[in-house]
Amino acid sequence: MGEKPKVGFFSFTSCEGCQLVVLSMADRLLDLLGAVEVVNFREASSYKGNDYDVAVVEGAISTVHEIEELIEIRKQAKVLIAFGACAHIGGVNCMKNFDNQYEIKHMVYGDKASNFDSILAQPLDAVVKVDGYVRGCPPNREGEEFVEVVTALLQGKPPYIPNYPVCVQCKMKGNVCVFHKENPIACLGPVTRAGCMAPCPSFGNACIGCRGLVDDPNLNAHQETLEQAGLSTEEILKFYRFLNGMMEVGK
Ligand code: SF4
Ligand code: SF4
Ligand code: SF4
Repeated sequence: MGEKPKVGFFSFTSCEGCQLVVLSMADRLLDLLGAVEVVNFREASSYKGNDYDVAVVEGAISTVHEIEELIEIRKQAKVLIAFGACAHIGGVNCMKNFDNQYEIKHMVYGDKASNFDSILAQPLDAVVKVDGYVRGCPPNREGEEFVEVVTALLQGKPPYIPNYPVCVQCKMKGNVCVFHKENPIACLGPVTRAGCMAPCPSFGNACIGCRGLVDDPNLNAHQETLEQAGLSTEEILKFYRFLNGMMEVGK
């Protein structure tokens, strides 16, 4: 790769919130932009270059057309980064995978349903090889992890991403656990990869697992604890399927 690698940002099925986060990364992004040249970024510029070395891709894949486009991006990019929960684990888009696809399609598109290309939603790495992940929905606005992942991959090194659960950082913040017998909500902190400093439990909310699962999560123990607190299997699955429907341990 040359002195100043060219970066393209791409978007598939998503709310495009991840790309907006990149624009709000301010100083951290400016540090990184000193070392790269952005050639394709729809949210920030109408110029579209196709000579990128690094592709930063947000969104899940939910149409055949997106599969084709992603394969083309992979052919061009030396490094492909899945940016945000939709790209990393499929995210909210995968909720539809657990319902009747015919009914869902007709609910959204009515009698024009057959004109629309729509398949089960999936993360990028179900289609192509992904070199690195920037986790979260959306990723952290301070941009540390984004800069860490891009910089490490450009240097040919594995990025440092914590491999312990959100509970660890939640406790480091001194939070009182939001889960207890009188409030049996499925906080996914015990099985979710840390790195966000637990903002959700810090504000009294459950972790919904936007950073994906930690390596080797104790899913059985988590389920047992939640069931002992009175949650049914169906209720527990609902929490997991909000963002982690396509969960793959250790991603
Ligand atoms: S990960 Fe979250 S913020 Fe990013 S595109 Fe998906 S839904 Fe939007
Ligand atoms: S609030 Fe959630 S993340 Fe924090 S300690 Fe309790 S279970 Fe873990
Ligand atoms: S606490 Fe959980 S849901 Fe909130 S940002 Fe961290 S990983 Fe995502």
